[in-house]
Amino acid sequence: MSASAGVTLALSKGRIFEESEALLAPLGLLPQADLDDRLLRLPSQADGVDLLVIRPSDVPPYVEHGAADFGIVGKDVLMEHDGTGLFEPLDLQIAQCRMVVAGLPDSGLDRLRRRPRIATKYPAIARAHFGRQGRQVEIIKLYGSMELAPLVGLADAIVDLVATGSTLRANGLIEFETIADISSRLVVNKAAMKTKHAALTHWIERFREVVTAEEPVA
Ligand code: AMP
Repeated sequence: MSASAGVTLALSKGRIFEESEALLAPLGLLPQADLDDRLLRLPSQADGVDLLVIRPSDVPPYVEHGAADFGIVGKDVLMEHDGTGLFEPLDLQIAQCRMVVAGLPDSGLDRLRRRPRIATKYPAIARAHFGRQGRQVEIIKLYGSMELAPLVGLADAIVDLVATGSTLRANGLIEFETIADISSRLVVNKAAMKTKHAALTHWIERFREVVTAEEPVA
């Protein structure tokens, strides 16, 4: 089997795709044509590598069920999804941020009521985090703009991603604690790792070379 034969790579649309471009370009894995919102499946510039450009939260199921052989996805999505059906061979060190608990400065984690309401797009991560602390919480699942929830009394705190902290600051919120450091990962379908071993190890190693080359010298 040639190293580039017949594999499909699932890319996370949006912020991660934009940051992935710096890794995809030197590997010749950019889309052949300009990204068009209507085109969801497109050939890359490399022979035998097709791309799927899909919502970040859809990357784990696509790869786990073999619709894509490998993919690029945020650790936050993997933690929320329970990525145990996937290999996660490489930290791509892009889209770096933190998963945090945040809220209004005068509420403070210790001063939250006995069963605080936590607004989040990440109920599994939030539940596991507070579970580890032995704290009972009521989770309110939201799909965006979590920062608004404490301001209007919908929630006592939020669990959300923070990169620069400017969104929290703009809304007068502060970080109470960090749950996890987040970055994007390469994930691989477990069966494909056997059936397309040569091609997938080729690409994993190429990604590893590019990531290592981009690492800042300490
Ligand atoms: P910032 O203001 O830089 O702290 O960014 C915070 C906002 O960007 C929040 O709405 C986050 O949900 C979102 N965000 C930050 N980093 C990421 C990331 N790596 N992937 C997806 N969303 C992110």
